[in-house]
Amino acid sequence: MPFQPNFEKNKNRINYLRISITDRCNLRCIYCMPSEGINFMPHENILSYEEILYITQLAVTTGIRKVRLTGGEPLVRKDIIAFLQKLNKIEGLEEITLTTNGVLLKRFAADIKACGINRINVSMDSLKPDRFLQITKRDYFEKVWEGIREAERLGFDPIKINVVAIKGFNDDEILDFARLTIDKPYHIRFIEFMPVGENTTWSQQSFISTGDIYNKIKTLGDLTPVRSHSLDGPAERFVLEGGKGEIGFIGALSNHFCDKCNRMRLTAEGRLRGCLFSDKEIDIKTPLREGRSDSYLFKLFRLASENKPKSPELMDPEPKKCIRKMSSIGG
Ligand code: SAM
Ligand code: SF4
Repeated sequence: MPFQPNFEKNKNRINYLRISITDRCNLRCIYCMPSEGINFMPHENILSYEEILYITQLAVTTGIRKVRLTGGEPLVRKDIIAFLQKLNKIEGLEEITLTTNGVLLKRFAADIKACGINRINVSMDSLKPDRFLQITKRDYFEKVWEGIREAERLGFDPIKINVVAIKGFNDDEILDFARLTIDKPYHIRFIEFMPVGENTTWSQQSFISTGDIYNKIKTLGDLTPVRSHSLDGPAERFVLEGGKGEIGFIGALSNHFCDKCNRMRLTAEGRLRGCLFSDKEIDIKTPLREGRSDSYLFKLFRLASENKPKSPELMDPEPKKCIRKMSSIGG
């Protein structure tokens, strides 16, 4: 009899898989990667596209309905469009989204759209070119904006702009980002700065909570809550008075959402990870390469799902650091 996956032990419905397709990137954001001396994974350790497609197909049979591709920078991986075309053919997958730094977005936006992907997240932590350069170590501010404008022109909806808020660094731009949603249909998502990676630049002093960001934005006008759908991530969403777009808050540290978390992660080197803040991972690549049965691989999904923390004890009182690099997990 075929193995029947059973996720009853975990009361959260796991329907959202974030896949890091590469640990490489064309930026060097200070909170994510060191500017030099990075040991990228050998190519043979990274899941091939065929392997990702296989695992995704299996994941769909366990209840996954939405996939987000991330990295590193997903658009730097060779033949990404051919891969997206195949991914889009997987039956039962209702939504494919992509998180990108936007540097190559202008070049790829039309092809991405043609693969049936309409929703996109672009990371952009400053509206000032010199500060963007300071954060990312690359002078690509204009390129990213060209990418965002191209996505808008092509009708991507929504275009989400991820902003990692860092106290004393870009928190003076919170209101400017919020005001962007008045004239533009963008969804600005403020993400709390998280202590991720061995040499993280995170400190308590650099941390600003989404609660504080919310309070700042409220000085601009009323914030009306927006209802989330079952495939949505953990953002608390609002519309600013008179706004065309939305504002979202991801309080990964201050507003623990373990009880609502519907995500699973697949790292670039093929490990299932139930939580960004738990370094418990399950290697699915090795058994896949050894030719283990689908039922065996299903069980690994179940195990990973059971490994998800059920409560936020990991983050208190000092946030636990996630040792693995963000670029290999995918955020
Ligand atoms: N390269 C793509 C990008 O930057 O959008 C995708 C990968 S990146 C790891 C995914 C998301 O994680 C980005 O929005 C990035 O800003 C966020 N991120 C990276 N390091 C972070 C940290 N230490 N705290 C909070 N967010 C972080
Ligand atoms: Fe690259 Fe994204 Fe990490 Fe920045 S946050 S270094 S763009 S992977």
